[in-house]
Amino acid sequence: MDIKQLQVAEDAIGFLYPEEGSALYRAGLDAARVGPLLEIGGYCGKSAVYLGAAAAAAGAILYSVDLHTGSEEHQPGEEFFDPRLIDPASGRVNTLPHFLDTIHRADLDPAVVPLVGSSQDFALLWSEPLGLVFIDGGHSEEAAHADLEGWEPHIAPGGLLAIHDVFVDEREGGQAPRHVYERARGGGLFVDHGSVRTLRILKKRQ
Ligand code: SAH
Ligand code: MG
Repeated sequence: MDIKQLQVAEDAIGFLYPEEGSALYRAGLDAARVGPLLEIGGYCGKSAVYLGAAAAAAGAILYSVDLHTGSEEHQPGEEFFDPRLIDPASGRVNTLPHFLDTIHRADLDPAVVPLVGSSQDFALLWSEPLGLVFIDGGHSEEAAHADLEGWEPHIAPGGLLAIHDVFVDEREGGQAPRHVYERARGGGLFVDHGSVRTLRILKKRQ
């Protein structure tokens, strides 16, 4: 990952600490030897720069899944609403132009494949074994568990599952990602592979 890409990642609108980004980058480099990388929750491209740079360095691909209409908490009047993301033509949240611009500025167009649509829909039609799945999409219990159920079977043996926004203290954030992390870890298929702030990484047994 070069300095320009680091700068683009840090400047991008989004929700990821630089040290979480670096951990994603390192995990992505490892995992790209196992298979392509996939993230749920592309938003404005912040995590996609770290994972996409890892994919590019390893000669692999990052698939980035997002509806690009924002989660509940990104809508007008909600806690994480950002007026810059309103598309003037439709008056609705549209993160796709921001995502594409971020990826382009990081010179990662060839390595990042945007998949615009519902994570659960893509999971149903998916068939390629993946080296890494990063779950950072909808944060309701329903959405987060559906992402685990839908994507876990597509992680290759020895591949990684990364989960964002795992808050140990419920006063700091919603608990669905923590429940999903505990469920994945408790299921016997994964072992702990590191954690940075609210990022948890699990490795699928061979
Ligand atoms: N990874 C990003 C942040 C993601 S925010 C970063 O690094 O900053 C969560 C994203 O998940 C939003 O963009 C929202 O549109 C997307 N999302 C929510 N539910 C989804 C679903 N069911 N399918 C696809 N994307 C979804
Ligand atoms: Mg997040």
